Amino acid sequence: MKYRKLGATGLWVSEVSFGTIPVLKGNVPVLPQYYNLENHQAVALMRYAWDKGCNLYDTAIVPEYGDAELKLGMFAKTVDRKRLIISDKARFFDGDEMYGAVEQSIENLGEMPDIYFVHQVDLDNVDQVFGKFGALDALVELKREGKIKFTGIASHYYEVLLRGAKDERVDVLQGSGNILERGMLDRMAAEPVFQSKGLMVNKVYAAGLLPGRFTEQELILGVLSYPVSTALLGIGTKEEADKAFFHDCHGAREPMSWEQVLERLEQEFSPIACDRCQRCICPRGTEIHTLFRQKNYYHLGKDYWALRKLDLGIQESAAHCRKCTELTCMYHCPRDLWIPKLIQEIAELVENHYQGENTER
Ligand code: SF4
Ligand code: SF4
Repeated sequence: MKYRKLGATGLWVSEVSFGTIPVLKGNVPVLPQYYNLENHQAVALMRYAWDKGCNLYDTAIVPEYGDAELKLGMFAKTVDRKRLIISDKARFFDGDEMYGAVEQSIENLGEMPDIYFVHQVDLDNVDQVFGKFGALDALVELKREGKIKFTGIASHYYEVLLRGAKDERVDVLQGSGNILERGMLDRMAAEPVFQSKGLMVNKVYAAGLLPGRFTEQELILGVLSYPVSTALLGIGTKEEADKAFFHDCHGAREPMSWEQVLERLEQEFSPIACDRCQRCICPRGTEIHTLFRQKNYYHLGKDYWALRKLDLGIQESAAHCRKCTELTCMYHCPRDLWIPKLIQEIAELVENHYQGENTER
């Protein structure tokens, strides 16, 4: 196992880290697969990864990831706590609520978390999170009191992560990316302000959709080829751990190029060549990169989930595009995508799908 610096925290983290969603038990509406593990099975699996050199384990407050946080606390009692790095998070944007959540997490874990993230910061809640008495201020206070060691911002949005990178209250960022959705990683690599922050990257397997089409090595290496601290992988079985913590490969081979990735996918379907860089701004509020992701995910096997999400507002977005004359969304697209045409095609796909369903009934 190789280790990388976690920004300016002074910590060194395993370049592959353990995401605990798959070890949860219960009925939790989270996207990646989980295995309903018993406590002893979950602890044994975390130990298995530990023995392979993993030292960073990421979870979220109960019940966001079911009981995973409790299981991580149990595991923490079985190893040298000084060598273990616990990363935790909660989806509270107000300072008082975040303060209470961290105290609850400490009780659940039976341990102080090392890093605590404001989870799922987006463009609607970002001002509250970063504002006076927001969740970030609460984390700073908890750090001052010694209840956590480092503060974090977790988001799928580049602009939010950029704001975190520029804010001296933030120690660690958690963003998403993979060899297909690499636009945000490209932008972060090119922006020097990110260099002082630890960067954990999730969605390396795109919610489990890319393995099978790409080897785990290709996927992990693709993310580790960027200046990130660690690739965070959900692990629920020993086989998954073996694939995640393979030895001596990281950094040894060239990562797949964008063209190679598209070529591989084109064997199955015509992917939208959007890397989710998030440069396209629509004044009508259409979140273009999310629509394009859903379309690709539809073909990659999440058809029900992807369509359900697309159905929320796609016809309205397409109607806006039909009348749009500014086309501001296309000014900065590095992939030269004809965005309104693609949105129209997605609207037709959704309409045809539901028409087909109604005919079958
Ligand atoms: S073409 Fe559509 S997505 Fe692009 S700016 Fe106009 S309304 Fe927004
Ligand atoms: S459509 Fe273009 S600008 Fe928008 S996220 Fe995709 S690649 Fe980036």
